[in-house]
Amino acid sequence: VTVFAGRKVAVFGLGGSGLVTAKALAAGGALVAAFDDNADSVANAAASGVTTLDLRSADLSEFAALVLAPGVPLTHPEPHWIVTKAKAAGVEIIGDIELFCRERRAVAPDATLIAITGTNGKSTTTALIAHLFVTAGRDVQLGGNIGTAILSLEPITSDRVYVVECSSFQIDLAPTIDPTVGILLNVTEDHLDRHGSMERYAAIKARLVDGAETAVVGVDDDWSASIAAEIDRRGKPLERISVRRPVVDGFYVDRTDILKAEDASAREVADLAGIGSLRGAHNAQNAAAAVAAASVLGVSDDVIQEGLSSFPGLAHRMEEVTRIGRVLFVNDSKATNADAAEKALASFDRIFWILGGKAKTGGIDSLAPYFGKIAKAYLIGAASEAFAATLEGKVPTVIAGTMDRAVALAADDAARDTEAEPVVLLSPACASFDQYRNFEKRGDHFRELVLARAGADAIEE
Ligand code: ADP
Repeated sequence: VTVFAGRKVAVFGLGGSGLVTAKALAAGGALVAAFDDNADSVANAAASGVTTLDLRSADLSEFAALVLAPGVPLTHPEPHWIVTKAKAAGVEIIGDIELFCRERRAVAPDATLIAITGTNGKSTTTALIAHLFVTAGRDVQLGGNIGTAILSLEPITSDRVYVVECSSFQIDLAPTIDPTVGILLNVTEDHLDRHGSMERYAAIKARLVDGAETAVVGVDDDWSASIAAEIDRRGKPLERISVRRPVVDGFYVDRTDILKAEDASAREVADLAGIGSLRGAHNAQNAAAAVAAASVLGVSDDVIQEGLSSFPGLAHRMEEVTRIGRVLFVNDSKATNADAAEKALASFDRIFWILGGKAKTGGIDSLAPYFGKIAKAYLIGAASEAFAATLEGKVPTVIAGTMDRAVALAADDAARDTEAEPVVLLSPACASFDQYRNFEKRGDHFRELVLARAGADAIEE
């Protein structure tokens, strides 16, 4: 990043992407002073050649900017205090996405930047857009909140397509974010702890599409719909997205078809029928937004359809692990709360449901409308007793305790089931921390157990 060449820049946060940021700034000629309230991170950064400085006691007014790493918790005293001090000294406070946007304007304004945000569906949509452009034969750089820090992607050139997932926090630190296509999927209540109020949270998300050349905005919730209306009022290019009703300016979903509104009629752009990795209304929203981005940027309908059909999906999000006989096994370990589990329950009809772990407030009470689809529930982890009480008299339930036992019991029951398409679904509606390090480990364990069973089954045959 050359935009701070010759100037002093402070960097706070030296975990993964903060360290990448500090190095990118230094490589571009900035005079970097980096810090973290974790002494090990500071030592590690210093050992890898980054200049460190205790920002708590430094005179921040010397710096052209304070760059915050994406994961920095502003609720913690030290970053909070340093940010307050920087603000008082009139120093601008930005993040790595802002650095990327400035660099793009300076070195290759034609490089395509597609930025994606929303309360839910960001990673799926980001990965799908990247896949559509790879299918179109483009040089795709995928990063941001989804994994790879944006400044560790390949250098910005006009022919590259950068597909970048943005958290609210990252947008908040990117005052001049100006993507070629900006996508806002939805705005629902979440993460209010960090942003204070729904108004402020929505306003941050709106900034990503405000600054875009073309805005793609889901209009199925009130917050996003009013953001779309405001963009439209100002006469900016806008594609509305809906899975609920036809729109007159954008893309909408009718059963499995994704349609583009054109003049008074509509054209079918793609069909989601039979695409297991994009099952469910929530994924239809993600797919329609991805299709809009690709279509606006000139990808043909044929290539879009080919890309949708070959999209492998993301692990742990309604991931189809395998089939054993008629039974489909689905890993939805990412569903760490009832809202997320609801998406999975809505997507299948005959469910052998593995759930439990460390319960969230509200438990699974809100899922009662789906209990009729549950053939049987298999409870694991700390929430077992509480969930058993909720399910009692409504859903046949067994306290399985461990994942091993739950998979064994559910697979046996489902194999004996006579309905057309039984599904063994891990969609825990709980955090994993009572039994696993994180939801990925939980999903990996489920997948391993299922694949071991599939292997044993194949040998028996
Ligand atoms: P994010 O990156 O925003 O956390 P993901 O793509 O990782 O989103 O999806 C996480 C979970 O959120 C999914 O497993 C699903 O339960 C839910 N989800 C995905 N897309 C949507 C959507 N468009 N609307 C509502 N919920 C969604």
